[in-house]
Amino acid sequence: MKLTNEPVLDLELLKQAVMDSRDGITIADARVPDMPLIFVNPAFERMTGYGAADVLGRNCRFLRADNMPTRQRTRLRDALSRGEGFLEVLPNRKRSGELFWNELSLSPIHDAEGEVTHFIGFQKDVTDRVSLDRQLKERNEDLEATRASLEELVTLDALTHVYNRRHFDTRIDTLWKISARSSEPIALFFIDIDDFKAYNDHFGHLIGDQALISVARTLADSFKRGSDFLARYGGEEFVVVACGMTQQEAANFAQELCALIRALDIENPKAEGQRLTISVGYAVLVPGPDTRPSEGLALADQALFQAKHDGRDRAVGASDRLVGESGMPVSYHRH
Ligand code: GH3
Ligand code: MG
Ligand code: MG
Repeated sequence: MKLTNEPVLDLELLKQAVMDSRDGITIADARVPDMPLIFVNPAFERMTGYGAADVLGRNCRFLRADNMPTRQRTRLRDALSRGEGFLEVLPNRKRSGELFWNELSLSPIHDAEGEVTHFIGFQKDVTDRVSLDRQLKERNEDLEATRASLEELVTLDALTHVYNRRHFDTRIDTLWKISARSSEPIALFFIDIDDFKAYNDHFGHLIGDQALISVARTLADSFKRGSDFLARYGGEEFVVVACGMTQQEAANFAQELCALIRALDIENPKAEGQRLTISVGYAVLVPGPDTRPSEGLALADQALFQAKHDGRDRAVGASDRLVGESGMPVSYHRH
């Protein structure tokens, strides 16, 4: 007679637990070729639609759905051949042909010599959970797409798809501070289409819109450096910020922009050269500690006024001619 307090394992109780388990329980014989099933509990029968009589003596692979990924197949085969445990959610098929997701947990059972004699499998239909996970994933993807298109709406100009003024205002602050800290010059370019009112008057606003799009695309295409930044500043005005350009590089770049728009060869009958052109004003500077972007922009804008004053279709740098012949700041009024 045993005199310990250790609870006595009641085999009947254990058997009852296995038979009443809500999860499918299977036992396969690992000592027989092809590891046939030697036991399935009622929950397995309910879950799969197969009766014990149909499946005992067969390998459990009859549950496998055709779309089971090869990698998963390999992992399962490897675990079985090495006598290791396995836990994964597999695509399986019921007897009726219906697909379901089976969370399969396999554990080896060893004999006294350490040889694997059986595999015990716990199988759970997790189809609801998997489809919920999928729905959540799809919802997240939808949300991400909505967020991206909202961000585009907020930062991009609807007509030309370059950045809008609002986004420019936030970016310029950052770039200005970076430039002030690193003492790397920042170059600001104001670009304004010449005689665009006349173009609109002649061709109408819709054709005018198309011209604006062409100009924007040409300007955008001329950037090779990630640090350059183009935005539509107002109606037919654009602004470019470029970091680390010398005065000479900025001058070349501004002239190149004028040449590129000229080369589009868009007719503007009422303009002086009868072609659509732009004027560019630019300023290259290293911001002082207490300066604001608006001061730099004002310099570039003044240079733009000067370019208009000098006859349009040209680029003028702020340091080239900040003041007029009289020594007084040039006053130029837009029409
Ligand atoms: P300047 O050479 O001095 O710049 O002359 P301008 O005619 O270009 O200047 P003004 O400021 O008088 O006219 C700008 C014109 O740009 C007026 C406006 O009809 C046009 N414009 C502004 N935004 C748009 C737009 O989104 N689409 C079209 N089609 N035209 C626009
Ligand atoms: Mg204009
Ligand atoms: Mg203008």
